[in-house]
Amino acid sequence: MGRPCRQLEAAAARAVLGAADTLLFDCDGVLWRGDAAVAGAPGTLARLEAAGKRLCYVTNNSSRTRQAYADKLRRLGFPAAAPRQVFGSAYCAARYLRQALPPGAAAYVLGGAAPLDPAVRAVLVGFDEHFAYAKLCQALRYLLRGDAACLLVGTNRDHRLPLEGGAAIPGTGCLVKAVEVAAEREAFIIGKPSRYIFDCVVSEFDIDPARTIMVGDRLDTDILMGNTCGLTTILTLTGVSTLEEVKGHQESDCPARKNLIPDYYVDSIADLLPALED
Ligand SMILES: [Mg+2]
Repeated sequence: MGRPCRQLEAAAARAVLGAADTLLFDCDGVLWRGDAAVAGAPGTLARLEAAGKRLCYVTNNSSRTRQAYADKLRRLGFPAAAPRQVFGSAYCAARYLRQALPPGAAAYVLGGAAPLDPAVRAVLVGFDEHFAYAKLCQALRYLLRGDAACLLVGTNRDHRLPLEGGAAIPGTGCLVKAVEVAAEREAFIIGKPSRYIFDCVVSEFDIDPARTIMVGDRLDTDILMGNTCGLTTILTLTGVSTLEEVKGHQESDCPARKNLIPDYYVDSIADLLPALED
């Protein structure tokens, strides 16, 4: 049986939220779009927090710090969040490299060409709007160096970042792919749908997957990660993915696509508000 992807009406929402103690939120397309909060979203999170839920923020964006996310949440009127509630792919990549590399080893972060540093034991590919052929060359030189194994790590595979009005810019996935093709090997991916980013949350908080909800706007990252990790998944329609896409997955015979179907959907997370009022 596939997941039903039912609209989460107030009565069901009360039960679903009641059975959860932690909610993980993707940010862009869920809490805000660009620099404007989704209408009703700050109030919804305030009620969730007042109801004793633990809120965490899980984002593939690698270009902002935990503190920057905490600041943006406050600026847009969301309940105050501590930086440790924020799990971005840059923070989690740093954590991964700290564990995977020997002490004193360095990483080449796609960001600047320089003489080869003998301490480099990893190439990390994140969002880089100044990506250039010279950096690709530098990354390949490290990855081909024969004297030591060099890890290849990507913050995420998002291939496109949507802008308002149907426009888009190429995402980090394009840069990861370029390095992978050059190096003829696959990168280890930190962000959603990789479960590594969820493991980071688990390592810092006492999380029971059966009592955790993942709320996201993308089927191929947020929902896939939530389903893979055994979480309850809610798709919100204020961002990238549509019910048409869900339908396509439901009608497909491909078993892998079943993991892209959420348990529930809402038009906006503000729809959860009635379930939180008594
Ligand atoms: Mg999103």
